[in-house]
Amino acid sequence: MSAIPDNPYLLLTPGPLSTSPTVRQAMMKDWCTWDQEYNQLVNAIRDRLVALALPESDAASEEFTCVLMQGSGSASVESVIGSVIPPDGKLLVLANGTYGKRIGQIADVLSIDVKVWDFGEQGAIDLDALEQQLSGDHGYSHVAVVHCETTTGRLNPIEQIAKIVKNSNTCLIVDAMSSFGGVSIDVAKLDIDFLISSANKCIQGVPGFGFIIAKRSALELTQGMARSLSLDLYDQWKCMQEGGGKWRFTSPTHTVRAFDQALIELAAEGGVDARHQRYLQNHQVLVDGMRALGFKTMLEDDVQSPFITTFYNPTDAAYQFEEFYQRLKLKGFVIYPGKVSDADCFRIGNIGHVFPEDMERLIKVISTELYWLA
Ligand SMILES: *Cc1c(COP(=O)(O)O)cnc(C)c1O
Repeated sequence: MSAIPDNPYLLLTPGPLSTSPTVRQAMMKDWCTWDQEYNQLVNAIRDRLVALALPESDAASEEFTCVLMQGSGSASVESVIGSVIPPDGKLLVLANGTYGKRIGQIADVLSIDVKVWDFGEQGAIDLDALEQQLSGDHGYSHVAVVHCETTTGRLNPIEQIAKIVKNSNTCLIVDAMSSFGGVSIDVAKLDIDFLISSANKCIQGVPGFGFIIAKRSALELTQGMARSLSLDLYDQWKCMQEGGGKWRFTSPTHTVRAFDQALIELAAEGGVDARHQRYLQNHQVLVDGMRALGFKTMLEDDVQSPFITTFYNPTDAAYQFEEFYQRLKLKGFVIYPGKVSDADCFRIGNIGHVFPEDMERLIKVISTELYWLA
């Protein structure tokens, strides 16, 4: 399998990403948002997402539930932050990039008591310091962390973080936007209370909604806490749960249909582990090829996720990212600008309907396009 002939270019970006032709084909019909057939499809999707979040602990499937939420991924993050922290709660955000900081911004806008612990965009979360901070009478009701910080591609050590947070009797919120579906995460084993992801990342659907895997007992405590009407997580859950898969307000029907197809294709590929292997291969072909061309990765290999990779821009005076970008786009590849504030870098995504052969083609194109530097 290889690139998509009916698309102008392959998206090597962390979502929206390149989808399969069959996922896009699923959007070519109009679906009623209130119809029973559609609502049953919605509930089947919720069940399948819970199953994906419990790879080894199927027995826990009654303990977890799933809520779908309209909007981009940030809307789902905002829905959780705004809906599950009580008026007297206090949130600790562990941040090492834009998406961690965004959780802090959301809390600020909603006047939630929050402390953003910033470890720096290129820094690791200090687990010893965290353990110390959360020992004794720490005063936090909730801790939020990003699993794969898409700013750099760093994979934060979610098992260790979960252990520390849960030992401190604190509610754990995980933004697993760019990792869920691309690496095995067991919400029951890690005892995660709220995990957030979206349709257009590793499940390989199109944009339009996000989803929250929630521990039922934690979600049930949040009735009436929401600071927003349309992003009220509890109310959305109640409506879906009791209405047989109904959304409170107009749902992104085409996107949901495409997502259903994407879930079918994830299973056909062999599930999350098989997809993880493909992303690892994509990443390895990319990194080996780029290093052979003289590019340097920003992160150490042992903290690097297989989802998105950050490279330093070449230092040649003749090099400009914009020109590099345009040249690659003309050849059928769209890459991603850097997001680290104090480093000159760019990013290449490895996720989506993208295969090792595509990465090999990319490396060939980069090696021929770089001649303008010579
Ligand atoms: C993509 C992403 C989001 C959500 O971004 P949107 O642009 O709102 O879809 C949130 N967190 C992380 C880590 C992401 O990668």
